[in-house]
Amino acid sequence: MRIVALAGGIGGARFLRGLRQAAPEADITVIGNIGDDISLFGLRVCPDLDTVMYTLGGGINEEQGWGRADETFTIREELAAHEIGPSWFTLGDRDFATHIVRTQMLGAGYPLSAVTEALCDRWKPGVRLLPMSDDRVETHVVIEDEQGRRAVHFQEWWVRLHAQVPARSIVAVGAEDAKPAPGVLEAIDAADFVILPPSNPVVSVGTILSVPGIRPAVAAKTVVGVSPIIGGAPVRGMADACLTAIGVETSAGAVAAHYGAELLDGWLVDTADAALEGDLGGIAVRARPLLMTDVDAAADIARAAIDLAGELA
Ligand code: GDP
Ligand code: CA
Repeated sequence: MRIVALAGGIGGARFLRGLRQAAPEADITVIGNIGDDISLFGLRVCPDLDTVMYTLGGGINEEQGWGRADETFTIREELAAHEIGPSWFTLGDRDFATHIVRTQMLGAGYPLSAVTEALCDRWKPGVRLLPMSDDRVETHVVIEDEQGRRAVHFQEWWVRLHAQVPARSIVAVGAEDAKPAPGVLEAIDAADFVILPPSNPVVSVGTILSVPGIRPAVAAKTVVGVSPIIGGAPVRGMADACLTAIGVETSAGAVAAHYGAELLDGWLVDTADAALEGDLGGIAVRARPLLMTDVDAAADIARAAIDLAGELA
């Protein structure tokens, strides 16, 4: 069985850990979001790729959902002593090593896909992890505050401003001219089905789909998605602020409609949203518990997604 999944950070990574457990024999390719990537202290940081890599590779800080377990913050303290910012983005010492390796390889001319493969040689995530593109795509958010209307990097809006300043628009800068990374379209074409984990529909899955060529390739497949919205709210994080920015209601049904029936064949919603079960404008909706309380719970959800894909293929 060949499975492709499009993943952001925490929601995607936790689901993928379940998927790997549910389908240990499957050949799983993960197409990771790079829209959250940012350069800090001269280093290239890829938060979503790293969250997937650390989570599947056993190095994640479980409680937090991002960053390394057993982390220390000496470099951060030293940078603060030099009054070198930004201080709102937390990087631990172990995590810094990842960004140093990545930046060194990028500087030597390796594309991000090759760098990610090299990092995965260490982390052995048990899936093939591909960045959506080797080209730069960075999500920027247009906000309006005392300083007027301006665009800030997604991380500044998300981490520093906690998405509390309303977003006027969200733009994946560079997406229009980006090409899918080597292997991305081939993996989608070869897949038996594609899964959209419960990742942010706007700034994770939406950004991946905005790379020319990826959306039509995915749409040509049987696609099953898992709702990140339960009972009208994100399970964690501020996906509601992203949905509001693009004019989509924060509900499991509205997210499915936003993806659209030409993309999505099946949609898993939580039992809290069981009223949606049935046919939603051509999308088969099934309700089941969708809280990924532990790996077994995530595996149960993954199994349900695989079963639904099999049924709809
Ligand atoms: P990020 O890049 O770290 O924000 O992570 P993702 O884009 O992969 O996922 C964020 C989404 O995961 C949020 O919208 C959450 O609502 C969703 N999420 C987190 N935990 C769970 C869970 O246990 N169940 C479901 N259904 N969604 C979850
Ligand atoms: Ca992210």
